[in-house]
Amino acid sequence: MSSIFSKIISGDIPSMKVFESGSALAFLDISPVCKGHTLVIPKKEVENIFELDESEYVGLMEGIKETALILRDKLGADGINIFSSSGSAAGQTVMHLHFHLLPRFDGDGLKTNIHDNPVLELDLMELHKTIMN
Ligand code: AMP
Repeated sequence: MSSIFSKIISGDIPSMKVFESGSALAFLDISPVCKGHTLVIPKKEVENIFELDESEYVGLMEGIKETALILRDKLGADGINIFSSSGSAAGQTVMHLHFHLLPRFDGDGLKTNIHDNPVLELDLMELHKTIMN
């Protein structure tokens, strides 16, 4: 599905590019939640991870690694969060696959911690059986 990110790839709308390879593009998020908040996207127009073949996914992951290194080295980040949402149920708003890279600085207080959520009381044995069947 075509989205605003296709126009960024084609150059029809501007972006602040951080990294580019044959298969991936990284640019600053227009609504940053931290210093250096960057998106890494595949150049192929796909909506989510389920639509990329293996070699394309490897190219995207290499782009993520390169971008993470740039952000760490140029901004002096102490750590980095990397996450992606596939599907509106997961919170995806732009329907072109993308990974958020969030450089982290000691004591920055950014709220991304999954452990802020309550731990669920699930039957893990049952769940594991369902997943493995
Ligand atoms: P998500 O909610 O995970 O789908 O993330 C979509 C992200 O795209 C949001 O963080 C937006 O701020 C970002 N975004 C939307 N339009 C642009 C744009 N033109 N340039 C850079 N980032 C954008």
